[in-house]
Amino acid sequence: MTLHDPAQIIQQIQVDGAVKDWPYTQEILARAASMGIAVVNSHEPAASASHERDFTAGKRVLRLTAHRGRFLKPCPATREYNCCGYHVLNIGSNCPMDCAYCILQAYLNSPWLTFHVNTDDLFAELREAGASGRLLRIGTGEFTDSLALDRLTRLNERLIRFFAGQRYLVLELKSKAVNVEHLLGLPHGGRTIMAWSLNSPAIAQREELRTAPLEQRLAAATRCAEQGYLLAFHFDPVVLHPHWREGYAQIIDRLFDTVPAERIVWISLGALRFLPPLAPIARHRFPRTRIFDEEFIDGLDGKKRYFRTLRRELYQFLVQRLQQRMDARTCLYFCMESDELWREVFGFTPAERGGLDRMLDEAAARAVQMT
Ligand code: SF4
Repeated sequence: MTLHDPAQIIQQIQVDGAVKDWPYTQEILARAASMGIAVVNSHEPAASASHERDFTAGKRVLRLTAHRGRFLKPCPATREYNCCGYHVLNIGSNCPMDCAYCILQAYLNSPWLTFHVNTDDLFAELREAGASGRLLRIGTGEFTDSLALDRLTRLNERLIRFFAGQRYLVLELKSKAVNVEHLLGLPHGGRTIMAWSLNSPAIAQREELRTAPLEQRLAAATRCAEQGYLLAFHFDPVVLHPHWREGYAQIIDRLFDTVPAERIVWISLGALRFLPPLAPIARHRFPRTRIFDEEFIDGLDGKKRYFRTLRRELYQFLVQRLQQRMDARTCLYFCMESDELWREVFGFTPAERGGLDRMLDEAAARAVQMT
C-alpha cells in the first residue's frame, strides 16, 4: 500500500533571511533537497488581489520563519457555546491538504504554508506551562495539520519526547495524514494522543483533497495503538449529504472493527459551521462542492450552522451508533454546541458534570494512568 505524503506537493521553500543559518532551518532544508529554495527578506509576503488563486498556489510554497507572538494560547472559542478548554500550540499555519470546508481558507491572511523554526521559544513556553501545576491539553492541529509537514520538520519527535517527561501536559496530534512511521518507537510516556479526523466516505472522497483515505487513517491509528499511544477521533465537520446515515454508520463500524476501543480517550462531534466569507471562497475553489447548498442559520458566534432540529437529528444518530460500541471510559462530546443540544442528545449539560474542560481533563488523566 502506498502511503500518501501531503508534503509532496510543495515545490518551493521560502526562507526568511533572518533564520536561514539557524541549525534547525538547515536541517529542514537538507530534507527538502529536491525542492526549490529561495531566501526572502520581508516577514510576510505581499498579498495579491486574488486570495482564492493565491491560496491554491500558496499550498505549494512553504515559508520558514520565526514566530513573533506567543506559541501557546487558549483555543479561540466563544462564550455562547460549550468549549473544551483546549490550548493551541501554534507551530505554523495552513496545510498542504485541501478540504472544501477548511476554515483556514477564510481565516488566514497569508496564503502560504508557514512553519515556525524558533522552537527554542516554543519549548521555553511549554516548560513554563508544565511548571504551572495545572493539567493542560495541548494540540498543534488548529491552524495546520499536525502530521502533514512532519517529514520535513520532524518536530513531532521532539514534542513527543518532551511531553513524555511532563506531569501536567498532554499533547494531541490531530491529522488527516498517516505518516507516523518515524513516531512509532518513540518513548511517549503515554502523554501523546494520536488523533484523526473522520467523516462519511462520500464526504472524505469528494471534499477532502490530498488527505489519506479513511482506511489508511484507521490503519495508522491501529499501528499507533500497538505502540501504546492513546487515540482520539474527531467527526468534524459532520455534514448533511445524501445517504448520510449509511455513510456515518459505515465509518463508525469500520472504526470499531479496526481500532481497539479501550485506547480511545475522546471522540468529538461537530456539525458543519463556518464564517460567512468561507462559502464564496470554497465554492470558487471547489466548484463541485455541495456542502454550502443547505439552509443555514446564524449562530450566536457569527458562524453559519444547520438548524437545531437538523443538528439534533445528526447528533442523535451518531451518538447512538457510537455508544453501541465505544468503551464506557471514552469521553464523547460536542465541539462548540449549546446546552439545549447537550440536554436533548446526551440528557445532561456539561455544567452538570463540572464543565466540558473538566470532563476532558478527567478523561485524559484516566487514560494517562492506564498507560
Ligand atoms: S486537513 Fe485540516 S487543515 Fe488541512 S485543509 Fe483539511 S481541514 Fe484544513
